Amino acid sequence: MQDKEIQCADCGRTFLFTASEQEFFQGRGMSEPKRCKDCRQARKAQRESGGGGRRQDEGRGGRRY
Ligand SMILES: [Zn+2]
Repeated sequence: MQDKEIQCADCGRTFLFTASEQEFFQGRGMSEPKRCKDCRQARKAQRESGGGGRRQDEGRGGRRY
């Protein structure tokens, strides 16, 4: 397997999808990433802080009334 360059769907930069990462992704049946690590982390952080996307507000004490 060879390292591969992918263009990030968010920031447009090319990032390296290394051979070991490709193995890891394939081993888990995941498709290749569309975003660089920075953007993935940013999105993950956003999800965890509850930003973006509406979903039930659980795990925050759950006191809505
Ligand atoms: Zn990016």
